[in-house]
Amino acid sequence: MSQKRIHGGVAVWALDGCGATPRHTEEELEQQAMEQKKAKRILVTGGAGFLGSHLCDRLIAEGHSVLCVDNFHTGSRGNLAQHTLNPQLKVMQHDIVWPLHVRVDEIYNLACPASPVHYQHDPVHTVKTNVYGAINLLGLAKRTGAKIFQASTSEVYGDPKVHPQKEDYWGHVNPTGIRSCYDEGKRCAETLFFDYHRRYAVRVKVARIFNTYGPRMQIDDGRVVSNFIVQALSGMPITIYGDGSQTRSFCYVSDMIEAFVRLMGSPDEFCGPVNLGNPHEMTVLELAEKILDLTGSRSQIVFKPLPSDDPCLRRPDIGLAKEKLGWEPRVHLEEGLVRTIEYFDALLRKGRRQVQPAQAAMAAMHG
Ligand code: NAD
Ligand code: UDP
Repeated sequence: MSQKRIHGGVAVWALDGCGATPRHTEEELEQQAMEQKKAKRILVTGGAGFLGSHLCDRLIAEGHSVLCVDNFHTGSRGNLAQHTLNPQLKVMQHDIVWPLHVRVDEIYNLACPASPVHYQHDPVHTVKTNVYGAINLLGLAKRTGAKIFQASTSEVYGDPKVHPQKEDYWGHVNPTGIRSCYDEGKRCAETLFFDYHRRYAVRVKVARIFNTYGPRMQIDDGRVVSNFIVQALSGMPITIYGDGSQTRSFCYVSDMIEAFVRLMGSPDEFCGPVNLGNPHEMTVLELAEKILDLTGSRSQIVFKPLPSDDPCLRRPDIGLAKEKLGWEPRVHLEEGLVRTIEYFDALLRKGRRQVQPAQAAMAAMHG
């Protein structure tokens, strides 16, 4: 059965199978309530992931009703545990490679593993997530008239020959390498977004996100900031791939979420693509040294082979974001790293507290 409830003037979804189809009169009630509160029904795919969960927090804080759709490949319900009793959030386990039938005003499409380790684990599924997922969600936007945001990536520039990267650079991407499932998948998704816009007048917003970090990255995420922090806090060797001279530019999560919301709220004529990221560029070796310094860790640095097609340089030109969104990052690297270190420190301590009693019980059992 499909059910609709109004909690304190806020509309929530009750799902019927894979759809969330409201009854007519309740729909009208909901519409009234939403209009009074200027609240929207917003779908966030990948909402249980790192960026998605922070975006859900923000949208809920603004009074919207959020439907998080996730297949929990790299995300977790724990990232949304703070909203367990909040009727403004519904969580639906669903893979976006399959069509979705819900009524929404806005869609943020964030569903896709972002760490090379995870997107390369099942590369065919990564392509399907990006391409079938985009088609399914653009179809939903077309049917419902919803505005749709795409979490694209700096990877569309590949191993760039233009530095820093501007939106008009077409990139230098290997179509057959180990990163291609992600890079080409995201490029094809951008193509679909602009074709749906030109052909069907779907309102689209394409963000090219550069490396972003912060609390709620998974311990086993595999990306550089979380790897280095977890290694430093655990006293394990810091694994630098290659000689560490490759560069990245790291943006703190709260800055990125602000940019997402501003982009979604920008005039319909502005579709992007727009670079979102922090232009402060550094080498991977410098990042390792900074994290060792901030954690006070005595971990050794070890050098491992550089994976193929790993971009040598990456830094966004954010002139367009400044001009169109009035946005630029505010959180300095050191401040963001300290917050992220505190998060992982608490997580690792909690893990140790849970493991120790279990180990003690095992030891007691085995005499
Ligand atoms: P993440 O891996 O933490 O989150 C991705 C979420 O999508 C997870 O909750 C995962 O379970 C879900 N998901 C994956 N495939 C799915 C599918 N087929 N159907 C439904 N759910 C699925 O990664 P993140 O860092 O939060 O990235 C979010 C989005 O932003 C991704 O699309 C990523 O490509 C993009 N992006 C992120 C960064 C970054 O630095 N964080 C940089 C560029 C682009
Ligand atoms: N990297 C590293 N050690 C790690 C993880 C990553 O040296 O433990 C390097 C990786 O080779 C790349 C950079 O750090 O040059 C950023 O890697 P990440 O996976 O975070 O993102 P991406 O390569 O997609 O920018």
